[in-house]
Amino acid sequence: MAKLTALSGVGGKLPAAFLLEVADRRIVFDLGEGPQAGVFPDLKGVGRVDAICLSHAHMDHAGGLHLASLVGDPPVYATETTLQQIPFDVLPVMRRRALPMRDDAVIAGLPVTLGRSGHAPGGIWFHIPLDGGFLYMGDWSAESALLPFDAPPPADCVVTDASYGDRETALAEQAVALAEAAKGGAVLPVPSGGRGPEMVLLLAQRGLAPKACPTIRAEIERLAAEEGDSIAAEHRAGLRAALAGLPTSDSYLTSDIIFAVEANAESGLSAELLAKGEGFRFVFSSHVPAGTPAAALLSEGRAQWLPWNVHPRLSDTLRLADATGARHIIPAFARPEDMPELCRALGRRLVLDRTIVFGQTERLQGTGT
Ligand SMILES: [Zn+2]
Repeated sequence: MAKLTALSGVGGKLPAAFLLEVADRRIVFDLGEGPQAGVFPDLKGVGRVDAICLSHAHMDHAGGLHLASLVGDPPVYATETTLQQIPFDVLPVMRRRALPMRDDAVIAGLPVTLGRSGHAPGGIWFHIPLDGGFLYMGDWSAESALLPFDAPPPADCVVTDASYGDRETALAEQAVALAEAAKGGAVLPVPSGGRGPEMVLLLAQRGLAPKACPTIRAEIERLAAEEGDSIAAEHRAGLRAALAGLPTSDSYLTSDIIFAVEANAESGLSAELLAKGEGFRFVFSSHVPAGTPAAALLSEGRAQWLPWNVHPRLSDTLRLADATGARHIIPAFARPEDMPELCRALGRRLVLDRTIVFGQTERLQGTGT
């Protein structure tokens, strides 16, 4: 019998933190902050855990790591690419455990299978083949033109990313709309460690000549040079071509198409260009938390927002639910009122409770009791 507790992440766009108790081990999957700054999982009463596993390095999945002392400062397991994005003062070397991007591994003595999640460089899902199987998807997308997605194995209990609720439009259509909107010049704010390289690639492939801020240029260089499993070889070649066409100058005109961190113009080049007030047009495409410059610009009608999928569509989530054969599906990171169709389609598989016990039947059958 295994028990899953959503410490945070169910019922709204909340930081990720899920506690799995299985085979006498206690493992926390992700430990985030936000997206609203200052919102953290409540770890009071959780006690010591054996490991923290990070699906990727985005703030809402890894930004709460400084709270790890509340759960006994356990080792933190993540891919090399994810670990590289975490400062050493938050996570010292001796607590870092590097994982492969896919295939089998061992975490705190438990067998796991890992796969690429198609959401961010270094992003993975975790599968634990005990008590019927547990699958933690973190954030994922099956649509990325750059980042591969590995189909996970069957599992009885699945925590999946439902960030977009019932959204169903395809990334291919969104890319066309964004390219149209960017023509003539626009600032396209993106998060660091996220969709930037793919957006540059897709717009370059559509014949546009985007510029990228130094952070995004460095990300493209890193991905193009990487030897590992993060991206497919043909995409590496595409990135190298896009990189060769990217201007390296750091002067920006309002007629340029500019990819700039951070996603809500709260810092980085997007914040600098906003502060200049020289008539730059902003097109946002991420989740916009209240209180950010992006939220203010959008509410005043001074910026545009267009979707760009980095999370699964409704149909992707339902395909995953069917393919895993899960009896318990926890759609995370969305409010129930934003996913009525998903909730309806999941039917008896839907779990919105904070805790769930699973694998009981298999255990009883397995032991003959
Ligand atoms: Zn993410």
